[in-house]
Amino acid sequence: MMDRMELWGRTVNFSISEWVLLLNIDHQIRKYVEQLYLTFKSIHMKKVKLFVSTLVILTFMITSCNQVTKTEDPPEPQNDQIVGLVEDVLTKEEQEALTPDMVIQSFKEGNERFMRNDLTARNHSEQVRKSAGAQFPKAIVLSCVDSRVPVEDVFDRGIGDVFVARVAGNFVNEDILGSMEFACKVSGAKLILVMGHEHCGAVKAAVDDVKLGNITPMLSKIRPAVEAVEYTGDRTSGNKDFVHMVCESNVQHTMKKIREDSPILKEMADNGEIRIVGAVYDMDTGKVSFL
Ligand SMILES: [Zn+2]
Repeated sequence: MMDRMELWGRTVNFSISEWVLLLNIDHQIRKYVEQLYLTFKSIHMKKVKLFVSTLVILTFMITSCNQVTKTEDPPEPQNDQIVGLVEDVLTKEEQEALTPDMVIQSFKEGNERFMRNDLTARNHSEQVRKSAGAQFPKAIVLSCVDSRVPVEDVFDRGIGDVFVARVAGNFVNEDILGSMEFACKVSGAKLILVMGHEHCGAVKAAVDDVKLGNITPMLSKIRPAVEAVEYTGDRTSGNKDFVHMVCESNVQHTMKKIREDSPILKEMADNGEIRIVGAVYDMDTGKVSFL
């Protein structure tokens, strides 16, 4: 639909179809504009022609402005549109398909990403919404309360991915065991990970047998791990080697207590439904060493 026309005293090549396509006008508007153009062609009076041409161009401008306004509305974000996003909220089917060893492997790989500062980008707002109705976490981690141990980040886990129980010195009591039974027997988690850490204040306090308020009965849960270490050297918190030995002993002691004090979890572990494993987090490197 190419034509030559005189517009504001100048002769120009005028292709209505090209203009319409260029401005990305939808089908109905295109029909309307083309009809307007045909009407325009039938008019021979020069001044009227000029008026109508101005009207056509104004129509173009208004509709194209509307188009631009529409495209500026932010679209609903989709997972695959988030750059770097590679994981979604775990579903029941995905949880059921996991084995304890697969979960351990995913934790090791997540910790490697954490160490090289390559955490997975996640759409947290969307994960909050998607996990609101139900949760199917793959593991429960028992950690110290220490502020330098960000458990989810350490394993590069997202919302709905792991249960986390925290208490100074990562020991178990009735409440923590109940939480673990809920995580594994009720909610289907495949792994119990007891994670101690280097430079642990609770472990050092237990080593020095500190007495203070409610800290005293709390440390009594860690003392058996101190006494279990056979070491004839300096048995104080000033000895980093001894503190490290007690840290590992405390993790082992906690794992033993889980089996002793929870018949439910022991049976699940014996049947291979879950695994109970221990690890120590290194403050200096961010590395988690599995025991
Ligand atoms: Zn600690």
